[in-house]
Amino acid sequence: MKWQTPFDGKVIAREESCRICHAEKGRKIGTVDYWDIKTCSIVSCENCGHIQLDPMLNDEETSKGCFAYYVEEFSRTGTKEQLKNCERNFRRGVVFGYHLKNRHISPRFVLELGPGSGYFAAGLQFVFPAVEITVMDINTDVLEFNREHHGFQTIRGIPDNFISRYQNKFDLIIARDIIEHVTDISKVAENVSQYLMAGGLFHFITPNGREDIWKHYLTAKFENKPSELLINHVNYFDGKGLKKLLVQKGLSPVDYYTYTFKTTLRGYGWREKRTLMNPVSEKLKADDYIPGKTEELKSTEFRKAEILDKWYIRTKAKWLTYIYCLYHHFSIIKISPDRNIGHEIYGLFKKPSQTNQLQANGTT
Ligand SMILES: [Zn+2]
Repeated sequence: MKWQTPFDGKVIAREESCRICHAEKGRKIGTVDYWDIKTCSIVSCENCGHIQLDPMLNDEETSKGCFAYYVEEFSRTGTKEQLKNCERNFRRGVVFGYHLKNRHISPRFVLELGPGSGYFAAGLQFVFPAVEITVMDINTDVLEFNREHHGFQTIRGIPDNFISRYQNKFDLIIARDIIEHVTDISKVAENVSQYLMAGGLFHFITPNGREDIWKHYLTAKFENKPSELLINHVNYFDGKGLKKLLVQKGLSPVDYYTYTFKTTLRGYGWREKRTLMNPVSEKLKADDYIPGKTEELKSTEFRKAEILDKWYIRTKAKWLTYIYCLYHHFSIIKISPDRNIGHEIYGLFKKPSQTNQLQANGTT
């Protein structure tokens, strides 16, 4: 049995340097077709361990592919599943909120990057009713939904672009399943650090890169052809490298671990088996997923009161809500992301409080 052997592939000159360490070379471990929009190499940095697309997608390509993916996913999952997902995310927000509460942390000003349905933040707000939530997204439909459905404040933008008026404005920033999508992860980490007040927290989850890339790697290995990339995962993180980057940008780990291992047991990240590989690309046409479907999407009715009308969600017995949510979303096994095993990385990082910063500068 092979256990985490290094990736096979030739060292090549990259079209764009590594976004983390600026290395000009890297190991080419695969090729993907992002819909019929762009073909990119998958390059693993020998220096910092970060795996990313080379060249990277630009904003226009990302936005077209994301929309096609949104429609494709909706046609696969349907309304019922979407409503269930809202409830699930609400429960996860409750669990996260109680974790903070147990540590005597009460956030006041929260920014969520890429909020989706907004239900994670709604769960957090259930635990901390006084919290003020702002969400950032590029998609105006997402912003409108979050504003009308939850009453959140909205910012139209992408995490890569710094908006100076939000500097030092938040004591908690959330990015769940977002950082694998961003073009420039170094810039995003820097911006998050800037938006946080002293002592503020950054919470994220993101796939373990080795496992996430595995299916594309196998297509290259067995077929030597591009595989299909429908969701714009453009970053595949190395556990050690990601932590190092965040520390460089002034954040220190509070909780950092990998959880959920079902996919690992199936072989992702280590087993070289054809059944695990991604299909060879047929260049699925993004345009086929854009017209027509949007009306159905828009007519889906999301009523918050109905979604949250569950026996266990009680504002007068929040302990009951918490126990039920914990029962559903507690991770028993936690492994250091340094090992690059498992499905999803959980991070909670902290910006030092002012006194620590002064000490670090040697001024006290
Ligand atoms: Zn690098």
